[in-house]
Amino acid sequence: MIMKLLKPTIKKKFQVYRSVDGVLRSVEINNIAATGYRIINLQCLQKHVSEITCHAILCDKAREKAISGAVPIILESQVAHFGLAVILAAKCTGCGKKFHFETSPKLLNGGTRHYDINVRAVWGSIVSGNGLAHLNEQLASMDSPTMAQNTFSVIEKEINQWWKVMVEEEMSSAIDLEKKIAIEKNRYHEDIPSITVICDGGWSKKVAQALI
Ligand SMILES: [Zn+2]
Repeated sequence: MIMKLLKPTIKKKFQVYRSVDGVLRSVEINNIAATGYRIINLQCLQKHVSEITCHAILCDKAREKAISGAVPIILESQVAHFGLAVILAAKCTGCGKKFHFETSPKLLNGGTRHYDINVRAVWGSIVSGNGLAHLNEQLASMDSPTMAQNTFSVIEKEINQWWKVMVEEEMSSAIDLEKKIAIEKNRYHEDIPSITVICDGGWSKKVAQALI
């Protein structure tokens, strides 16, 4: 199913940013109308609401707008999206001051700079047995921005590395514990501490059919 998610406007510009390796790069930004649905971190929302509220209280022109029944702060557009993380632009209709809001914090631990929501989305896709196509289908149905293949792949590789390290630590610790118990209970096989392992059998249906 293909849905037209966002309405591009004629505004287009480049945003310059410093990448992880320290090099300045630029990315083309399509200024998109702020419609549909977005997942927003509640602490980010609190920060944005506080900023807007403080401005609306202190700005004479914004107060005049509010008193006359007009909207003092409008959500103007979505200036960029990086997967599910979105940068929104709002504007004071009184003085014209612009505000930029991110919908997700960034993960700054472990050398990664990904948006938290993107890491969570990829993690959820992996553990639920789905992939990028399922995730994007779900997001498109929800009228939300989708994730690019490159973003998904980069995060997926990092998560795999995290899991590899954690599983190795867990397995090593479990082996040490089982060895200690085997020695305490004097269980050895050819002079090596041993444990009894009970296995259940299984086979791949397709391979079994091929062998018959
Ligand atoms: Zn203002």
